[in-house]
Amino acid sequence: PPAEDPVVVVDAHGLPYLDERLPVKRRVADLLSRMTLAEKAGQMTQAERNALRAPGDIAGYALGSLLSGGGSVPAPNTPEAWARMVDGYQLRTRATRLQIPLVYGVDAVHGHNNVAGATIMPHNIGLGASRDPALAARTGAVTAKEVRATGVPWDFAPCLCVTRDERWGRSYEAFGEDPALVTAMETVIQGMQGAADGRDLDRNDKVLTSAKHFVGDGGTEFGSSTTGSYTIDQGVTRVTREELEAVHLAPFAEAVKRGAGTVMPSYSSVDVIGDGRGPVKMHAHAELINGVLKDRMGFEGFVISDWQAIDQLPGDYPSDVRTSVNAGLDMIMVPTNYQEFTRTLVAEVGAGRIPVSRIDDAVSRILTQKFRLGLFEKPYADTTHLPSVGSAGHRAVAREAAAASQVLLKNDGGVLPLKPEQKVYVAGSNADDLGNQTGGWTISWQGSSGKRTTGTTILEGMRKAAPGLTYSKDAAAPVEGYDAGVVVVGETPYAEGVGDVGNGHDLELSAADRAAVDRVCAAMPCAVLVVSGRPQLIGDRLPEIDALVASWLPGTEGDGVADVLFGRKPFTGRLPVTWPRSEAQLPINVGDSAYDPQFPYGWGLTTLTAAPKGGETALKALGLTARVLQAAGRGDSPEARRLVARARLLVQDRIGQRITQAVAKPFAEADHLLLSGDPAGAVAKLTEAYRAAG
Ligand code: BGC
Repeated sequence: PPAEDPVVVVDAHGLPYLDERLPVKRRVADLLSRMTLAEKAGQMTQAERNALRAPGDIAGYALGSLLSGGGSVPAPNTPEAWARMVDGYQLRTRATRLQIPLVYGVDAVHGHNNVAGATIMPHNIGLGASRDPALAARTGAVTAKEVRATGVPWDFAPCLCVTRDERWGRSYEAFGEDPALVTAMETVIQGMQGAADGRDLDRNDKVLTSAKHFVGDGGTEFGSSTTGSYTIDQGVTRVTREELEAVHLAPFAEAVKRGAGTVMPSYSSVDVIGDGRGPVKMHAHAELINGVLKDRMGFEGFVISDWQAIDQLPGDYPSDVRTSVNAGLDMIMVPTNYQEFTRTLVAEVGAGRIPVSRIDDAVSRILTQKFRLGLFEKPYADTTHLPSVGSAGHRAVAREAAAASQVLLKNDGGVLPLKPEQKVYVAGSNADDLGNQTGGWTISWQGSSGKRTTGTTILEGMRKAAPGLTYSKDAAAPVEGYDAGVVVVGETPYAEGVGDVGNGHDLELSAADRAAVDRVCAAMPCAVLVVSGRPQLIGDRLPEIDALVASWLPGTEGDGVADVLFGRKPFTGRLPVTWPRSEAQLPINVGDSAYDPQFPYGWGLTTLTAAPKGGETALKALGLTARVLQAAGRGDSPEARRLVARARLLVQDRIGQRITQAVAKPFAEADHLLLSGDPAGAVAKLTEAYRAAG
């Protein structure tokens, strides 16, 4: 703190709530009994650090929390600077009567993505493609360790959105379109938080998680909102009660079981067909927050609003405050008008419009997590793990995740894997752009093209494998005399909204990307890598492309992509979302009655073993798969995945890679059933697929 503004440290020693030997429940009750209404209101307030009028406001308003919103990074942006910054704010709480520590929060949604030099994981859509819950847990553990090392104990992640329409600009924050897949990947919560009962939260490598955005954020209708098509983000999710439960609420029930410490409501509204209520903003949805999340699911953590979201509720500000708090919100991300918020909250309680019992419940929930995090005993950064931020060990996990996330959609003539001795030509807008391959929520909220942090581009990774390769970003160079071409195309970074505004929101490749694909694929056997947060429309271009890979947003470790391209690791990823033929098909999801995508949900070829020659039939593959499913129970052990991949190869061999609707659909459904824990149903679907394949 600056010298002219000294911090007065008060001595609160000796009070029962400071006794770490007492159970958390008793400490909470003791502390609560000592708090004034203003102090309670302060605990329920989260301000943005840049919006603080004066550092002394932390004590003055007894603020419970601060956040760095997307892009709010300190200068210099180093791990050490982050730890110092958070400590500086924490020190301010020592000047309050009760010395209640702040809980600082950030959006570390794919690694500690605000911090330069941190390890950046693939975005969630890539983790969903890996179908590897254990790997997801490991990425979560790496993220948590890097975040906590910088003094930040709370991460606004994971996003449990079930993305039903890929025009949504947050599609890449979702693990996929199938609630069973999203649920399976929630192991990431354990990776970040440790045990479900919260006992690991005081460790110096764990953080409090935030399951978001409750509920239906991924299901909003395109163009349904008043302000135009842009608001497919923050729009209206119009569903039957059954669909709301099965698709959108189910992942949150799992998050509650896994002990997610906080839940963030969605900006969007829910309109349950037939309930006669019309669209209700989630930040005002008492039935779903109090009723379903807290009462029915038994959520014991606290509910944190989204950024300035209560301001979007109808009515004046006092009405926004009482409606949201009475609906079950415990802490409000204000983030700029914290003075007005605390004043209004106190006044609403004084006027009897918010029951004191509601305030006490909210504050108890917040304090419980603060005690569990060990913040009263250790309010300052434990910098033991600072050297791990961006370390080689952590990057190795990110590299593994990048490799596992790659989905081989097509591989005619076995273009992939490449061989190091081949003459390889590389082109395309996303071959050598770290910013584009990390996407949004990287260093800044929206992310940006170019080298903004430490990492390896896909091209750099490929160069290590094949130093002699030729690269031309725009494919203008001569494209003759090569054995194979790799064209890396896709999106530029964006966050929220409808996404890549530069490209429009129609999922089309840019003109430059299309030209690069045409030019290279006309001249040589070619592989096209799509680096993007969601499927891009390939449409009629598919026949001219020999190999097609969905690379998603693989993060800082381009080496991981090179690993599968050069066969050091097999392609094993499978589509976490349906890959449409055209925008007119959207929304399109597995289980739809008319389902005729370019590639179905769950599709993904493998380079695990060479395709068997002759003799072996699809029937054999079926037997193999049935054995796998019996042995694996849920079919998600590494051995089961290897064998299933082999069965796929057999079928692929049989059908000559022609993906017919009759084969693709039951395959996709079998995938869904497997994840839902129904191996018998999956066997039936596979039987159907193999029959259709002849
Ligand atoms: C996003 C949240 C995020 C919050 C804080 C909002 O715009 O919707 O996902 O946690 O900002 O940065």
